[in-house]
Amino acid sequence: MEDFLLTEEERRIKYEVRKVVKEVPSELIRNMESEKVVFPREFIDIITRAGIVGLRFPREYGGRGASWVADMVAVEEMGRLGYTLACMYALGTIVGEAIYRFGSRGQKEKYLRGITSGKLYGAEAITEPSGGSDVFGMMRTTAVKKGGSFILNGQKRFIVGGVGADFFIAFAITDPSAPRRSGVSAFIVDRETPGLKVETVYGLLGAKGGGTARIVFKDAVVPEENLIGELNGGYEVFNRMMIPERLTTAAGSLGVASAAIEIAARYALRRKSFGKPLIEHQGVSFKIAESVTAIAHASALVYMASRAADALEQGKVSYGYVRKLVSMAKLNATEAAWEVVNNAMQILGGIGYTTIYPIEKFLRDARLGMIWTGTNEIMKLIIQHEYIKEISDPNFYKDKRNVELDALDFHLEEEKVTE
Ligand SMILES: Cc1cc2nc3c(=O)[nH]c(=O)nc-3n(C[C@H](O)[C@H](O)[C@H](O)COP(=O)(O)OP(=O)(O)OC[C@H]3O[C@@H](n4cnc5c(N)ncnc54)[C@H](O)[C@@H]3O)c2cc1C
Repeated sequence: MEDFLLTEEERRIKYEVRKVVKEVPSELIRNMESEKVVFPREFIDIITRAGIVGLRFPREYGGRGASWVADMVAVEEMGRLGYTLACMYALGTIVGEAIYRFGSRGQKEKYLRGITSGKLYGAEAITEPSGGSDVFGMMRTTAVKKGGSFILNGQKRFIVGGVGADFFIAFAITDPSAPRRSGVSAFIVDRETPGLKVETVYGLLGAKGGGTARIVFKDAVVPEENLIGELNGGYEVFNRMMIPERLTTAAGSLGVASAAIEIAARYALRRKSFGKPLIEHQGVSFKIAESVTAIAHASALVYMASRAADALEQGKVSYGYVRKLVSMAKLNATEAAWEVVNNAMQILGGIGYTTIYPIEKFLRDARLGMIWTGTNEIMKLIIQHEYIKEISDPNFYKDKRNVELDALDFHLEEEKVTE
């Protein structure tokens, strides 16, 4: 994000996080890529020691009461490290959101403070083998009340931090007879819960080293005080978590795309063909122009959505409006990142396809952006749904010009047949 659009505090946070990002050892990233490191505990120690996790939460829980914009500026900076580490950083804000908004005082003291201090690392266990896009409709995991506990049975798939996280925010059916949106609850499930097991650790195209795994609950006993919010209130928790979930993917994608095109532009200044630097061939320089324009375009939408999330906190806009902008930001930024990293690879030619430069890693990472945190098809479903809802409200047109009346033959009502 451009400095001149940030407040003083947001700008300070940007450069503070940039400094931390600069000091993350390259060796850690290489070890994650080669899968010598399955879960980057070292990185979690770095970011919590730097005091930059969960910036948005109040100081009493270890945050700084910063804006959503500041939080996303930080994630954008983290994006330069690739998707895994940006995601490991972002999980603090995603998991923290559920606990901060819906958790009890005790849950906030233990888990939110745990996240910001680095004592506890939280992951989110939403997707199931039966479905991610229609996660509520296809949910199979159940939680049955027994005495002072809930007994969880089911499986969660593709869970970043499945290996290594200290606790999970997991969703399970608590009222099988109700429509899913009012029959699911959210729980904090501790790693040490009897009956929780990590099974498959996935081999991934990109975003390696985040401990992405399938976790299984087999008669897992979760104390009732670990229920987040209301019984059967999981849908509300889920929706709220989707704001940071999707905004952080969008912001992280800006970092990935910027890092890739910078490498390519510097390379184009040095590498020569047909007697001149690549940059002097219009076919190359235009790719750079298109890429930086795509990043700026994506950035505008990411920060518009982040400002809208701030406005939601102040009750100035509706949740549906923010949901629409966040989905647009995620859709647009992840597609921009894919296009930009692809351009960067083309500019580097053959060497871009090797592990000599990190472009191939960024390409593998960027492909995931269009799939996780809700696929881009699901983003389009949400965008059209929220937009149609907006324009169906009679107030939407209250003070707008009716441009249909500007048509030459506007009066031919008998031609305006719709069914
Ligand atoms: C590396 C990785 C990490 C992940 N991390 C996590 C995590 O930490 N926690 C977590 O809970 N989940 C995580 N996920 C899960 C991720 O969010 C889901 O994979 C994603 O939401 C898609 O769900 P699915 O894989 O079940 O695909 P499906 O839902 O089976 O969809 C398959 C295809 O059908 C399309 N489709 C489905 N329905 C429609 C429709 N109505 N209209 C148009 N197209 C449609 C989808 O867009 C997609 O292209 C992760 C996934 C990966 C790969």
